[in-house]
Amino acid sequence: MLRTHTCGELNLSSVGKTVTLCGWLQRSRDLGGMTFIDIRDRYGITQLVFNMETNAALCEEARKLGREFVISATGQVAERSNKNPKIPTGDIEIIVDKLDILNSSKHPPFTIEDHTDGGDELRMKYRYLDLRRNPVRENLLLRHRMAIETRNYMNNIGFIEVETPVLIKSTPEGARDFVVPSRMNEGQFYALPQSPQTFKQLLMVGGIDKYFQIVKCFRDEDLRADRQPEFTQIDCEMSFVNQEDILATFEGLIKHLFAEVKEVTIDDIPRMTFADAMKYYGNDKPDIRFGMTFVEITELVKGHDFKIFDEAELVVGINATGCSGYTRKQLDALTDFVKRPQVGATGMIYLRYNEDGSLKSSVDKFYSEDELKKWATAFNARPGDLMLILAGMAINTRKALSELRLEMGARLGLRNPDVFAPLWVVDFPLLEWDDDTRRYYAMHHPFTSPKPEDIELLENEPGKVRANAYDLVINGVEIGGGSIRIHNHELQKKMFTILGFSHEDAQAQFGFLMNAFEYGAPPHGGIAFGFDRMCSLFGGSESIRDYIAFPKNNAGRDVMIDSPAPISQQQLDELHLKVDLPNCEIN
Ligand code: ASP
Repeated sequence: MLRTHTCGELNLSSVGKTVTLCGWLQRSRDLGGMTFIDIRDRYGITQLVFNMETNAALCEEARKLGREFVISATGQVAERSNKNPKIPTGDIEIIVDKLDILNSSKHPPFTIEDHTDGGDELRMKYRYLDLRRNPVRENLLLRHRMAIETRNYMNNIGFIEVETPVLIKSTPEGARDFVVPSRMNEGQFYALPQSPQTFKQLLMVGGIDKYFQIVKCFRDEDLRADRQPEFTQIDCEMSFVNQEDILATFEGLIKHLFAEVKEVTIDDIPRMTFADAMKYYGNDKPDIRFGMTFVEITELVKGHDFKIFDEAELVVGINATGCSGYTRKQLDALTDFVKRPQVGATGMIYLRYNEDGSLKSSVDKFYSEDELKKWATAFNARPGDLMLILAGMAINTRKALSELRLEMGARLGLRNPDVFAPLWVVDFPLLEWDDDTRRYYAMHHPFTSPKPEDIELLENEPGKVRANAYDLVINGVEIGGGSIRIHNHELQKKMFTILGFSHEDAQAQFGFLMNAFEYGAPPHGGIAFGFDRMCSLFGGSESIRDYIAFPKNNAGRDVMIDSPAPISQQQLDELHLKVDLPNCEIN
């Protein structure tokens, strides 16, 4: 080893020892006769001291070093007169008597400190320098611990990690595939897996009854802040289980991760049906860190010549407790919020329950105080409360109110990132109708089994069939989802028919799975967790990018390696690809 210690471990107990440290020069200060250098490695920062009086040559040499030079320094550990209580090594310094330059460095494009002057794009371009910064490194460390603890837990309960292929076949369901042209099979393409779904089911047919994998998945979707074209799942599948077994097993994983990685105890995870989540939160991933559940007052408010309510399919609101003092300006700001195109409401009605017991609403002229009192009772409101009400088409109104509820939760400080409120959302609908293409789509995926008691509805009322499907939601973020699968050949065939596949298409796309189901497929089910998202939730950040060593930007580009990029004509020819766009070739 070129070093005896790391830059993060020396303290007063080491005073007097001769040590050698290796690392990067974070900053140096010349104070007349003395030069101080902070040397940094993965473990911390230690102060090096050079004294002009005792070793002028060495001190001169030290003064020539630039930021991010890689150095090795040998010397004695000494107690510092000017201690720095903010860092673990702040009580000591090294009086250096030997200095080696292991490598020089260009001046870095941004300061490599906790608070950097580098913007996002610049730091992405020089991600290897960004990785030297504590916050970024700590995020990767968190990710590592999450992965290790997942493996520990899964291994301890008898799961085995199996790798599934990355070059697979394109399927029309779900998101868009990334495809890879095959050189040896002209005109044919592999696809990168959106998830190992079919393979893990085949593993069950293969008798591997408890499978998991921390695995890369690829989806060519339009990007958002919390999406990456390649991302990681904790993918799991089990045989001979029902929904209860899956929920219990993975509730255990979640509790384990919280306990080991965050030292947080998670109580038994509550459950909510999809129908209730939509009714009370307007959202299939409710943030249950706070209440403020929806109250429907459609019938109560009709028949008073207030057109908006009379014509509405749904009139629904929330009670912001203790907010009756909101000013006109604050209410206007909320109205503006709900009218934003992303939220989509046309307006907002309020009802103030003043501290003195009087009631005041924005639609006073249509409703007597007695009427308003009935509203307040429906909302379970008390003096001091403020009710915010939206009206319109049911789906849009619920969606808009859900946004308003989250906004109010944030404004009232009810969405504390240090509080974790997991929730199982269960009983999802099996199918979703799409008006544009006029067909049903699988809400989860086409392998999800209907609830046995709903199977008879498949023929005539497919939209009403509930699935044995579940999501894990934490603080309003979907962290995982899965289902009990269809393991019956006939039922799977029927499912493809309902989804609009011809027999031939189903056979061409999923024949391998349906064939496998003819050879004794066990009942099985599973779940997959979004690992990047889980890490960002544990780390308290909104962005999954912060937890990925080399992420892509919002346009799906890796600005460091400059990818995607054109390929040469020779490569195109070998792949039998014709590309006409002028910028798609390099020679
Ligand atoms: N493969 C599914 C997904 O990626 C998860 C599952 O059903 O296990 O969402």
